[in-house]
Amino acid sequence: MTKVRVKVKVKVKVSELMQYVICPRLVYFRVRAQGRGYESYAHTHTQAQAHTVTAREKSMIESFILKEFAFNLHKITGCEDTAAITAIIGDIVESVPRIYREELEGLGLVLELDLIEAVKRDFIQGMNDEWLKKLMTENELTELERVHGYERERMMYSEKLNLSGSVDKLIIADEEVIPCMIKTGKSPGYGVWRSDRVQLAAYAMLIEDEFGSIVKRGFVEYIREAEFRVTQIRRSDRAEALQILKQVRRIKQGAFPDKGRNAPCENCVYSKYCDTDTRKTLLSKLLGK
Ligand code: SF4
Repeated sequence: MTKVRVKVKVKVKVSELMQYVICPRLVYFRVRAQGRGYESYAHTHTQAQAHTVTAREKSMIESFILKEFAFNLHKITGCEDTAAITAIIGDIVESVPRIYREELEGLGLVLELDLIEAVKRDFIQGMNDEWLKKLMTENELTELERVHGYERERMMYSEKLNLSGSVDKLIIADEEVIPCMIKTGKSPGYGVWRSDRVQLAAYAMLIEDEFGSIVKRGFVEYIREAEFRVTQIRRSDRAEALQILKQVRRIKQGAFPDKGRNAPCENCVYSKYCDTDTRKTLLSKLLGK
C-alpha cells in the first residue's frame, strides 16, 4: 500500500522574519532553544547579570519607555503645558514595570521604586526641546490617530500563509486599514529601513487576509528621533517578505543556514553554540550524514 505523506505547513511569526533579516541562524537557535539547552545558557547569562543594571539593560528600559511614548502620543501632541507633559512622562515611566513585566523578568530585573525614579530622572534630563517640539506638533500620522484612533498590538493570523503577527498600531480609516510600527532605533536619512519595509509588507499581507482590503501604505515611527515616516507597500517588499517566509520555514524544519552578512556575533548569546553547530554540520556533510 502506498503511504500518503501529509505535508504539514510550519507556522511562522512575523518576528521570526525579522530575526532572519538580522541573522538567519538566530531563527535556527531560537527554535531549538527549548529542547537543547540553548535557552538555559541564555537564562544563566542574564541571571548572572541580575544584580546590577548594565548599560545594555538601561537602554532596553529606555526603549520600553520610548515605545510607551509612541502609544501615548495623542496625549502629548498639541499639549503646550510643560508641567502636564512632565506628569505624562511620570505616568508613562511608572506604567513600564507592569506593561513589560515579562521582558523585565527575562532580563532578571525588578524595577523597584528607586530605580524607576532614577530612570525617570535620566530620561527627563536626556530629553531635548527639539525632540519634544516635534512630538507636540501634529503630523499626518497623529492626525489619523486623532480622527480614527488605533488598535494597540492587534494580533493577526493568515491561514493561507500560516503566518501570524501583532502590529504595534492598526488604524482603520474608513475603507483604509493602515499598519504602523514603532521603532526605537535610529531612522535612515530618508524613507524607512529595508527591514522595516519587509516587516510592513508582512503585516500588509496579514491585514489583507483578515480584512479583505488592499494595504497601500504603512507608517514607521522612529520615536527616539520623533521621525514619523510613511512608506508605500511595494511589490518588491511583498516578494522579499514571501521569500524570507519560505527560508524561515526551511530553517524551522531543520535546515542550518549560513550566517547573516552583518550578523551581530559579538553580542549574541548563541555564539558559543553557533561555531559548534557549524563544525558539526561540516563534519556531517563530510561524513555524508
Ligand atoms: S553567533 Fe553570529 S552567526 Fe551565530 S546566531 Fe549569533 S549572530 Fe548569528
